[in-house]
Amino acid sequence: MIKYVYNFNEGKASMKDLLGGKGANLAEMSNIGLPVPPGFTITTEACNEYYIKGATLWPELIEQINKSVFGLEEKTGKQFGGSINPLLISVRSGAKFSMPGMMDTILNLGLNDMTVGVLAKNAETPRFAYDSYRRFIQMFSDVVMGIEKYKFDKIFDSIKRENKVEFDTDLSNENLMKIVLEFKELYRREMHTSFPQDPNEQLILAIKAVFKSWNNERAIIYRQLNQIPDSLGTAVNIQSMVFGNMGNDCGTGVAFTRNPATGEKKLYGEFLMNAQGEDVVAGIRTPYDIDKLSEISKAVYDEFCEIAQLLEDHYKDMQDIEFTIEKGKLFMLQTRNGKRTAAAAIRVAVELVEEGKITKEEAVMRIEPNQLDQLLHPAFVKEALEKGEVIAKGLPASPGAASGKVYFSAADTIKAAKSGEKVILVRQETSPEDIEGMVSSQGILTARGGMTSHAAVVARGMGKCCVAGCEEVKVKEEDKMFTAGNRIFKEGDYISLDGSTGIVYEGVIETQEPELSGYFATLMSWADDFRKLKIRTNADTPKDAAQAIKFGAEGIGLCRTEHMFFDEKRLPAVREMIISETLGERTKALDKLLPMQREDFIGIFEAMGERPVTIRLLDPPLHEFLPTEDEDIEQLSKDMNISFNILKSRIAQLKELNPMLGHRGCRLAITYPEIAVMQVRAIIEAAAHVKKNMKINVHPEIMIPLVGDVKELIYIKQIVEKTVDEVIMDTGIEVEYLYGTMIELPRAALIADEIAKEAEFFSFGTNDLTQMTYGISRDDAFKFLKDYKQKKIWKTDPFQILDRKAVGQLIKMSVELGRRTRPDIKLGICGEHGGEPSSVEFCHMLGLNYVSCSPFRVPIARLAAAQAAVRLP
Ligand code: PEP
Ligand code: MG
Repeated sequence: MIKYVYNFNEGKASMKDLLGGKGANLAEMSNIGLPVPPGFTITTEACNEYYIKGATLWPELIEQINKSVFGLEEKTGKQFGGSINPLLISVRSGAKFSMPGMMDTILNLGLNDMTVGVLAKNAETPRFAYDSYRRFIQMFSDVVMGIEKYKFDKIFDSIKRENKVEFDTDLSNENLMKIVLEFKELYRREMHTSFPQDPNEQLILAIKAVFKSWNNERAIIYRQLNQIPDSLGTAVNIQSMVFGNMGNDCGTGVAFTRNPATGEKKLYGEFLMNAQGEDVVAGIRTPYDIDKLSEISKAVYDEFCEIAQLLEDHYKDMQDIEFTIEKGKLFMLQTRNGKRTAAAAIRVAVELVEEGKITKEEAVMRIEPNQLDQLLHPAFVKEALEKGEVIAKGLPASPGAASGKVYFSAADTIKAAKSGEKVILVRQETSPEDIEGMVSSQGILTARGGMTSHAAVVARGMGKCCVAGCEEVKVKEEDKMFTAGNRIFKEGDYISLDGSTGIVYEGVIETQEPELSGYFATLMSWADDFRKLKIRTNADTPKDAAQAIKFGAEGIGLCRTEHMFFDEKRLPAVREMIISETLGERTKALDKLLPMQREDFIGIFEAMGERPVTIRLLDPPLHEFLPTEDEDIEQLSKDMNISFNILKSRIAQLKELNPMLGHRGCRLAITYPEIAVMQVRAIIEAAAHVKKNMKINVHPEIMIPLVGDVKELIYIKQIVEKTVDEVIMDTGIEVEYLYGTMIELPRAALIADEIAKEAEFFSFGTNDLTQMTYGISRDDAFKFLKDYKQKKIWKTDPFQILDRKAVGQLIKMSVELGRRTRPDIKLGICGEHGGEPSSVEFCHMLGLNYVSCSPFRVPIARLAAAQAAVRLP
């Protein structure tokens, strides 16, 4: 026979899978001798069985429940539905992972027209019996029968008004009896039958309702948001009631053993006297601060403090505790590891180590790496955010908090920012031409594009807040406006973006700056001691590089040189280079670009010092740099002294049907070697300059993108070597560098042993490698990946979390083949996955040398790498 019901003395904390968090902890508390009212737990397996059996309870389960109810009667000396000393129970949900407020609870079950009278007779204060009955009828009707709560509240409030009563506790016994009568009448009207009087029937209906609440809409959404599997099911906890509403020596409250917002080691909580559980959270009366309990009853307060400390020591973590005081006696109703902000999580973990309660390894494992994001960007002040008016929701593409006036073009954004305004750039989607506008803005909102869209990648790189793919927003760039539902926002209107949730708000919301010293620095230094992977950054400017170093980057893993071409002042020369028909013309344009690129590299080398810097030669299809608007083409034709029509047809020729598979990556250097020559010259000249003038021994690594054949690498290598030799001759300064490639095409992965003959390092470009392996365009994936997720075909987006099965297999194969040819080959990853914890763990497992990610993800990668090393030494 399968055991579906566990009495509290049969469970323990480690049984969360079966008993849910609440059930397992109630059992644990009972077993360590704390005052917990007796009870039992129906398992999560029973919940799953309930669904398999078509949403019914079956005889075997009911028998086990009845047996445990009988056990409760024996323990308490009360009888369920009895006429001498009736037993009342609570029926509460509790899944493996706490899902606060998502599922249902019923208190005071077992009350009926008979037991309420007995209870009233037995109690010193009869009003408590009717107070409990009215609560039960309302909760049962709402949770089990779906009668809306407000209908009961209306009756309740009108009787309060009639009797000129301000607080619920001031209602007399007679008032409460009248409320009970009217509640029952409401039930009859709604259900066409009278309120169930049989406690066993009440219990069965309540258990079913709790099982059912596992699949209510808010629980499903909560699980999706928190990646909790639907298959877990909820347990049901049945416990004999203790009453916080029996008089003024009774009460109920919740408390954290430390402050969940800041982590400060101080009991933090609130309580109400003469009340039941829901009153504290419902905000009917303002609860008191937990400290005040010592004034009401010093003995109870002292006992509570002692138990709180005991629980924290027992679980070795900050606890979130629920308690009830019945006639001056304290009872514990729940304990769990408390939810907390990132700042609090770090402080608590560090202080627990200092107190000798946990090890440094445990502390490092306690922090969810992605949670660090909260600390690295300005954040909205919580209270201000709660009051914010939501306009729409898109993808949380790049975290942070931004408020500003909306502008609809890069040019307008730049202009407004120069005049001192804070600006949010709103675009249908961004393109490379928007970069300057993005730099000038506080944040970016796009209606199209996914998590690896241009806006998302660039914004993350800049550490700038971005909400992308916000389809509820209809952007009309030409009219300088957008609509969201029936609301219209015009140029100059204020909005706020929360890049961590993807929510767009109306107006300005107050923000606060991040704090990275103190506890954060301590925890990160422990993480650094544990990790094996080095952490580099993807950075294209000295400013980003410096920012990344502040966050702990140990090198640059990817400098996308094309980002340096987007500068407003350079674009004309870049365009000239692309449009040129002859080598002579092109060389002229490249000569203009050379000093600018050299300056860029000098800045980056200076910022990075002796740390390695991987610089990738030009990668994207050239037409991305060209103007699309007629007036811009006109201007360019004047600048270049060629006719508008010739220019237009040249631009048209450059257009590709499938640019992602077209003339990009190393293919550009093969067609136009002179571009590679200019870039290599700029790199080596800059290195020589920094070496000579700043005495910094720089470590450039020249990286060739989108290689699929070793012959491509060989061809470009001779260009690189020849150029380097020339620069060394010119400057007289020796510069050492590495020559390597990205592995971002499946073909390259399959022949990595051949490629390694020419490459001193591999950097896995997992954005492209994912795109090319799946055959899914990274720019369009967001349009249909949401259907895959919704239909449960895929749980995660492979552009966000590395697909270990196939893409991972290609990486693993490249690592093995590469090392076979060149045992000391340097290996890293520079796709977006480099800052994603589970992908970082995979890189650790493969023994890569480093991961590289955008500056603002560097601390996350540091922590994720440390966790991988602790988990998989
Ligand atoms: C990649 O493909 O993973 C990569 C880092 O290059 P990009 O995103 O610039 O194509
Ligand atoms: Mg790529």
